Amino acid sequence: MKKVVKFGGSSLASAEQFKKVGDIIRADKDRKYVVPSAPGKRHSKDTKVTDMLYSCYELAEEGKDFKKELAAIKERYQEIIDGLSLALSLEDEFKEIEKNFKAKAGSDYAASRGEYLNGIIMANYLGYEFIDAATVIFFDEHGEFNAEKTHKVLRAKLKETERAVVPGFYGAKEDGTVKTFSRGGSDVTGSIVARAAHVDVYENWTDVSGFLVADPRIIYKPEVIEVITYKELRELAYMGASVLHEDAIFPVRKEGIPINIRNTNKPNDAGTWIVGSTCQKSKYTITGIAGKKGFCSVILEKDMMNGEIGFGRKVLQAFEDNDISFEHMPSGIDTMTILVHQDEFMHKEQSVVSAIHRLADPDHIEIEADLALIAVVGRGMKSSRGTAGRIFSALAHANVNVKMIDQGSSELNIIIGVKNEDFEVAIKAIYDIFVEVRL
Ligand code: ASP
Repeated sequence: MKKVVKFGGSSLASAEQFKKVGDIIRADKDRKYVVPSAPGKRHSKDTKVTDMLYSCYELAEEGKDFKKELAAIKERYQEIIDGLSLALSLEDEFKEIEKNFKAKAGSDYAASRGEYLNGIIMANYLGYEFIDAATVIFFDEHGEFNAEKTHKVLRAKLKETERAVVPGFYGAKEDGTVKTFSRGGSDVTGSIVARAAHVDVYENWTDVSGFLVADPRIIYKPEVIEVITYKELRELAYMGASVLHEDAIFPVRKEGIPINIRNTNKPNDAGTWIVGSTCQKSKYTITGIAGKKGFCSVILEKDMMNGEIGFGRKVLQAFEDNDISFEHMPSGIDTMTILVHQDEFMHKEQSVVSAIHRLADPDHIEIEADLALIAVVGRGMKSSRGTAGRIFSALAHANVNVKMIDQGSSELNIIIGVKNEDFEVAIKAIYDIFVEVRL
């Protein structure tokens, strides 16, 4: 058995956290490849090292003095090194970083030093080999991740390395310049390493015990999801549930490697398993609920719309011409509704409306703002009757007016549109009916 273990910033924020991580890795000899993030916040008012690096580099780029800021970053690492009693000095590394900052090596280079230095400490602490991600993770000249080359080079390297630390978040372009993934990208590195090493499990260690059935800011202590499929996760993540970087599932998905989300502070919790497919039913018919506020609906009416071939295309053309993507498009016989993000749509509203008039000539257009969308997701919905019924009677009892309903034919999710102000009440009502009142 082989496992990749990725640790997030809060798991590596201090020497104390590093010790927990060391214990976790040593407790299982299968944990052979380690992907660390940069040190995160030690407490709620603290600053992540990545953010410190970005602001320090900003000064360097403006030609200002950045000594104090760089010293503060060095201090964060020194605290960890001292706390772990390591005979390691990052003196030369920091000289090099200072030189490269002065030479304006770029903000990606700057940010990447967070995981680079943490990787060096981690490798020293564990006695594992350190592999600089810039030598095994590649981006093309446009900055797009080069999956093929990375897989080939990384696979060959890991084949000859029994145990290694590969820092997360960055790699290098063809010309050697450092490039990062988007924020939170160490999750992606973990997935890439898992695929290249053909491991059995990708363990992603963070500060929560897995994905929750609903947002804890709305539901008091929601239950943890035990097993979720990649597809369900995509649906929930898109609607705002975030624990994992959204691109992190693609590399492992190719190989069918499961991801296990675990809690560094509660290592005995089983966490959440993210899998390709499963015969395990979710505990409550639904797997999770997520949602977002800030949508707008554009409602069109036109007599005999149904018979007019090309009407939908013309309407969507008006959105495309204004560079606006749409979220949902429920339709009736003579009506059609387009749901869009309000902040994207707002300042282009009149231009879209006139384009619709010009291209599709509807009888009437109405715009409704301040809507929220809620996704109720569950692979179990396909095989159980009455799910929609339960959702809508719960919403009716909670006095929530449903503005829109959309259920894909995959029956994996039901999307419900409500007014922004009903959002929290609606989520509570749905959670209660499935999780609290079990049938
Ligand atoms: N350190 C980077 C960030 O703060 C990447 C990561 O933690 O995954 O976004």
